[in-house]
Amino acid sequence: MNGSFKLARIAGIDVFIHWTFAILIAWLIGIHVLQGNSLVVAITGIGFVLAIFGCVVLHEFGHALTARHYGIRTRDITLLPIGGVARLERMPEDPKQELLVALAGPAVNVVIAALLMIPVYLGSGVSSLSDVPRLGSGFLEKLLYVNIVLVVFNLLPAFPMDGGRVLRALLAQRMDYVRATQAAASVGQIMAIGFGILGLFFNPFLLFIALFVYIGAQQEAQMAQMRSLLAGVPVREAMVTQFRTVAYDTRLEDVVQELLEGQQQDFPVVNQGKFLGILTRSDLVAALAEGRQDTLVTSIMREGCGTVDERDMLQDTFLRMQQAECSTMPVVRDERLTGIITLENIGEWMMIQSAIRKGKSRQHVDNIYRP
Ligand SMILES: [Zn+2]
Repeated sequence: MNGSFKLARIAGIDVFIHWTFAILIAWLIGIHVLQGNSLVVAITGIGFVLAIFGCVVLHEFGHALTARHYGIRTRDITLLPIGGVARLERMPEDPKQELLVALAGPAVNVVIAALLMIPVYLGSGVSSLSDVPRLGSGFLEKLLYVNIVLVVFNLLPAFPMDGGRVLRALLAQRMDYVRATQAAASVGQIMAIGFGILGLFFNPFLLFIALFVYIGAQQEAQMAQMRSLLAGVPVREAMVTQFRTVAYDTRLEDVVQELLEGQQQDFPVVNQGKFLGILTRSDLVAALAEGRQDTLVTSIMREGCGTVDERDMLQDTFLRMQQAECSTMPVVRDERLTGIITLENIGEWMMIQSAIRKGKSRQHVDNIYRP
């Protein structure tokens, strides 16, 4: 995530902290100063907030390690003032796996709460759980309370929060994935509006959470729709077949003309029909800005994106391109370059497909109601 700083690498996963966290800490210090609290009280107060975020990190590791169990890697975990985000490389396709990955986070907080109960109960002779919120003063008691709140709050069906994912997983066992996602996203957006209204009156943090949930729900619904459009379609259906290549010994200056003459932004670099790498417009512009007009294309071409086969599936290719941050990939068949595929033309292809689908469903409705 932009504007984040690496805190640590735990179990092979990088943990980042977002810069806005500094605002939270500054805000807390400000409150302590305004209230004229002693240094000890201030340090305990800030230590308490850090302890909460420690629990949030463990919660995220609950998701990440369960996902790893199903072969899904986690890119990173980022701490924001409103909570943590574990960026999984993908969501499990199997609803049962998604259910377990979603539940694993809150389950960690259940375990923490249970562990905290031991010293809290031994120390104060509390007789039931309902007494816990009233205790207030003790550090561990409050941390126990926060973990219970984390469990309850995260399990609210506000997709894409954990409870929303649980809801989607349950719905997906009864209907198709896209419809389940849309239903969960609608519930999530209604919840987000509720959070927003409550936030206006009670807690400004809820406003941020509302925004996060609202936008997240929308993005996830679009993503699911996209995946369903791309599923089972080979790359050759959507690839660009009319494209230009540049020879490996072309100077950058000479590519400029190619760029200006057509729509194409990225060019495969070839040597006698054999693909070597991709020259992107942004790399070209950057090199020209450094005055490297005379250098050869091979010196700035990208080789890390690899190639896709015409028969590969569009859905997997799209994921690969996103993960590798490659906006253009060469398409080959039997090692011969047959086309290129770009994120832009996948987007175009999806637009057309969704228009066709809409047209079909409209026809369907017309047929039912035609007198
Ligand atoms: Zn979670």
